[in-house]
Amino acid sequence: MKYLSTRGGIPPLSFKEAVLSGLAEDGGLIVPERVPRLSDSEVESLRHLPYQDLAFRVFRLFVDDIPEEDLKILVARSYGTFTHPDITPVVRKGAFWILELFHGPTLAFKDIALQFLGNLFEYLLSERGERMNILGATSGDTGSAAIYGVRGRRNLTIFILHPHGRVSPVQALQMTTVTDPNVFNLAIEGTFDDCQAIVKRLFADLEFKRRYRLGAVNSINWARVLAQIVYYLWAYFRVSEAEGAERVRFSVPTGNFGDIFAGYLARRMLGDRVERLILATNENDILTRFVTRGDYSVRQVVPTISPSMDIQVASNFERYLYYLWGEDAGRVREAMERFAEEKRLSFSEEDLARVRRDFLSASVSQEETLRTIREFYQETGYILDPHTAVGVRAAREFPSDLPTICLATAHPAKFPEAVSRALGFPPPVPEPLRDLESRPRRVVILPAEVEAVRRFISEHAL
Ligand SMILES: *Cc1c(COP(=O)(O)O)cnc(C)c1O
Repeated sequence: MKYLSTRGGIPPLSFKEAVLSGLAEDGGLIVPERVPRLSDSEVESLRHLPYQDLAFRVFRLFVDDIPEEDLKILVARSYGTFTHPDITPVVRKGAFWILELFHGPTLAFKDIALQFLGNLFEYLLSERGERMNILGATSGDTGSAAIYGVRGRRNLTIFILHPHGRVSPVQALQMTTVTDPNVFNLAIEGTFDDCQAIVKRLFADLEFKRRYRLGAVNSINWARVLAQIVYYLWAYFRVSEAEGAERVRFSVPTGNFGDIFAGYLARRMLGDRVERLILATNENDILTRFVTRGDYSVRQVVPTISPSMDIQVASNFERYLYYLWGEDAGRVREAMERFAEEKRLSFSEEDLARVRRDFLSASVSQEETLRTIREFYQETGYILDPHTAVGVRAAREFPSDLPTICLATAHPAKFPEAVSRALGFPPPVPEPLRDLESRPRRVVILPAEVEAVRRFISEHAL
């Protein structure tokens, strides 16, 4: 399988090149040259596989430059850190099926992709005798998944900046209690925006970037999308068997369009067995406005109780446009250039008719999110995290006879403040979060200055 850019400006890449380059050099995103539609017999041959075997079979469709034995080992390592034997179990709760994506080391769905990406980077770098220093900024909610993906790996270090004293206690502890020597938590005396600005400045310094082989693990990496396709197939097989149903729906709480884009690809592979995807947003509703009105225009980011979805420009959206417009890279390039200037895109009725065959969409307020956590608990005894609650609430807006699978993207114990507000008591604390307070910590406090961070990296990089 070769990989192309959504803007058409690069020669075809191998899978390995696609993973290591992240973004395409023409500014576009990397996509596979084709997405295989599974035949009925292929679907049947995948239906009863355990999660890891299914992952291996799906990866093999998109990866032809890693020997099968090695790919198997990468899969086994990536999902060996999960605490549930099914990796992503699907449970029936009330009217919905809940696809629990939070049984990885940091209790959020990003583990599914970042455990794989960390292993893959280690493998590819060892093979080339190269090293990489990962640099990133986090507002708290997603940094730990990247840290756990990289901890203890050869040829890789990670420097993660977070705003000192401005991330929740659980989130800070999840990051700073990782004491592996290749993990550097930098608590910056400033805001998240300061952290992001510093990271941007360092990546823009091409001489520095080259000298220290800076890399990123952000959500546009193709390997992350690929890893996420697997659980859609997995959940489809479990639920269609249990319900004796041919077709299902998914409801996906969305920020960067990464998770739901994997769902879109799974839908292309499974055909109309996936009837539609429900795209659920919080008050940051650019994607809902796109689906319902054809209005993709950037507004101010509003901070909410589902912070991992507080995003305006959805970094994976360009991949969807590529398929929406029949893989017309010229049209994507032109649209993205216009978007960079005008901060908005609008769509024709014809485009929208096609979009609505793929998606339904609703935006959910914080008040409705809290109410959904409360009602769902009263009805089923099950505690939703605020991101998952956005997806459940959106699913309720589109009643259907088809089984609806709601993606549970985080364990509620990661967001105890929101859950307490909804229920009047905090969620039970699971094993991995239990003794965080008493564990040794490793964190360095630095001023919000590019030079301080630059110096720290040059002294500690591989
Ligand atoms: C990242 C994240 C999301 C949003 O996923 P995207 O791929 O950005 O759409 C939703 N919920 C949680 C808990 C997350 O960490």
